[in-house]
Amino acid sequence: MTQKLDWITTELDALKTSGLYNTIRTIGSPQGAVLNVDGKEVLDFCSNNYLGLANHPRLVQAVKDAVDRFGVGPAAVRSIAGTMTLHVVLEERMARFKGVESAVTFQSGFMANLAVIPAMVGKEDVIFSDELNHASIIDGSRLSGAKIIRFDHADPADLERVVKENLPNYRRALVITDGVFSMDGDIAPLDKLYEVCKKYDIMLMVDDAHGEGVLGRGGRGIVDHFDLHGKVDIEVGTFSKAFGVMGGVVAGNAKITEWLRQRGRPFLFSSAATPADVAACLAAVDLLEESTELVDRMWSNAKFFKDEMKKLGFDTGSSVTPITPVMLGEATLARQFSRALYDEGIFAMALGYPTVPQGKARIRVMVSAKHSQADLEECLTAFQTVGKKLGVI
Ligand code: PMP
Repeated sequence: MTQKLDWITTELDALKTSGLYNTIRTIGSPQGAVLNVDGKEVLDFCSNNYLGLANHPRLVQAVKDAVDRFGVGPAAVRSIAGTMTLHVVLEERMARFKGVESAVTFQSGFMANLAVIPAMVGKEDVIFSDELNHASIIDGSRLSGAKIIRFDHADPADLERVVKENLPNYRRALVITDGVFSMDGDIAPLDKLYEVCKKYDIMLMVDDAHGEGVLGRGGRGIVDHFDLHGKVDIEVGTFSKAFGVMGGVVAGNAKITEWLRQRGRPFLFSSAATPADVAACLAAVDLLEESTELVDRMWSNAKFFKDEMKKLGFDTGSSVTPITPVMLGEATLARQFSRALYDEGIFAMALGYPTVPQGKARIRVMVSAKHSQADLEECLTAFQTVGKKLGVI
């Protein structure tokens, strides 16, 4: 018997011993407020379904209509077999929604980052990257071959320091930051980062995955939140969170989107999103443009929940968005807490290393527009019960 894969068993055992092994739950229902998780009905406080659109009747109907009209698959990459009208319309609608010149869509937010970063910089260039940027930014940056220099989290002064020290050694430079940091729920100081980029004439990119449909007027995103229209070169977004679907988008200058259609590798070498996905995204844009009701409800739910958690004595870190980390420290405690919440009928997952730094394990509670007041109160009661039982509060 070959021994060559034994190292995986050793690594997996190490994960299990240190409490870092991730057991993936199975969902047997649509993504509503109530989920069937591993056969049990629980309230969902785990998904990125900020506005409850993942199972919204308007999106479901749009998918049915699109499948009847366009079928199920795109059949090839867009640059070879042509692009469906649906994709073109979504790009026009997203550009208008976000108040930018142009937009181009991808199969996911991860793909959008893998497309745009290597298209903008290469071996002779430098990327200045917030130290807590998302894995897909890190991977896109590595793929580009550019030198990656990290700056302290959300710190424009530190960005300026590394820019001053390093800029002369490179051909082009790109500053990249997450918009909303998904593990802590804090927001990048994009206005101040922009000032540094303007002073040194550097390209600026923000990954607004958790800000799309959440921040700004009616969910128009972080650039709208800071009123930086026309100043941020690249806005990456995802349709997999507040939009409730799947897909990615790059919005900004028309020159950049044209370049991505020529040189964005996931655009050129991976088939397009399906007609069903694109039609659902279009229905989500319709809903967001028609009313701010869902976005408003999500924010008022988030505020209520966070205020009450603080009153109970929980540490919710530096969050200013619906992402509510409940800081617990050790990964084993976080997993124990999550299991006890599940027993109380609440689905909220523990996050540990490498998703968050060692010793900073937490439960991440995702508050959504789909939660009723009773749902929020049930979740608070469960946190109180488990928090007391495990000696956290
Ligand atoms: N960027 C950030 C900041 C994210 O949080 C995520 C999702 N976790 C992504 C990109 C990837 O998005 P998608 O799920 O659409 O691939």
